[in-house]
Amino acid sequence: HTDSRTILVTGGAGFIGSAVIRHVIANTSFNLVNVDKLTYAGNLASLQDVAASSRYCFIQADICDAQAMADIFEQYKPEIVMHLAAESHVDRSINGPGDFIQTNIVGTYTLLEAARAYWISLTDEKRAAFRFHHISTDEVYGDLHGTDDLFTETTAYAPSSPYSASKAGSDHLVRAWQRTFGLPTLITNCSNNYGPFHFPEKLIPLMILNALAGKALPVYGDGKQIRDWLYVEDHARALVKVATLGKIGETYNIGGHNEKQNIEVVTTLCALLEQLAPEKPAGVKHYSDLITYVTDRPGHDVRYAIDASKIADELNWLPEETFESGLRKTVQWYLNNRNWWQAILDGSYRDIKE
Ligand code: NAD
Repeated sequence: HTDSRTILVTGGAGFIGSAVIRHVIANTSFNLVNVDKLTYAGNLASLQDVAASSRYCFIQADICDAQAMADIFEQYKPEIVMHLAAESHVDRSINGPGDFIQTNIVGTYTLLEAARAYWISLTDEKRAAFRFHHISTDEVYGDLHGTDDLFTETTAYAPSSPYSASKAGSDHLVRAWQRTFGLPTLITNCSNNYGPFHFPEKLIPLMILNALAGKALPVYGDGKQIRDWLYVEDHARALVKVATLGKIGETYNIGGHNEKQNIEVVTTLCALLEQLAPEKPAGVKHYSDLITYVTDRPGHDVRYAIDASKIADELNWLPEETFESGLRKTVQWYLNNRNWWQAILDGSYRDIKE
């Protein structure tokens, strides 16, 4: 791994990180080092397609472990860091914020310090090429109540949940390391992702798997909260563009141009399942009969919507999937990959090691 250029991905066994790794191995010549702690959200089964590549390697480590991070920089000498490791689920951050503060804030700080020490030690040429790309969320901007407003790269931060507050904190640290120490950083903030290999606690896979099992489809509050949905492979392509071509010190918002109410997402999924999985569980006449409204999440943001024109104009990136095409692919993927999600539902995915 020392001869050619290397990308270090943190959190590569997660949903978006694994899509980034599949994209890098399939479409670039970079070597790739995946550093992941393998929390409940990390799953090496999502990387089976790349595990055999000589350009890929996996290291199980915690980004809060300063010595482990220093050793990894020293050994693998990455040119680019793509930092995705995080605690990522809003509901979990409400039930137990501690891990979010630890990984998202302390972990990002620890990784920044390891990156800075390594960057300072490089030759002038290598130091000039080094880039640290921090992956974040549009939830740092809080929420929108009007229907026309959009989040831009200069929208003031106003996070609502422990998750988004911890991500906002990590974004501030990254900007400070750039401004104060000159570390060459980039930040992206993106909207809700969906697609293959999404952990079944999140809205879209949860609804698909519950529907297939004939279980209730729980919708928070009145279901009218609006989210912008981005297909994960479109996101992975955007991230690699920013990491390799983005301008140092800049922030790019990434969105899917797909604003939908949560209830619309669930009814669209039910309609797709009627077509793609017509054999329903016993006692279910229509998948949509399973929809049930549950008490709203505390502090639930009303609307997120992103202005993604900067990345379109400067880096020539646009999403390729529409919501309908991406959702169809996603439903079909869950129908075709029952082993992947069965292993999560029965807990056996925790035993899978490389
Ligand atoms: P995920 O929860 O699926 O994956 C996170 C990964 O990080 C897991 O593999 C986990 O094992 C690893 N990890 C957690 N703590 C770690 C630690 N201390 N050290 C090393 N590894 C650790 O998350 P995701 O949905 O793939 O999100 C990736 C990134 O993108 C996160 O930073 C998240 O905030 C951001 N993001 C996600 C979305 C989305 O819709 N999923 C939207 C915007 C931004």
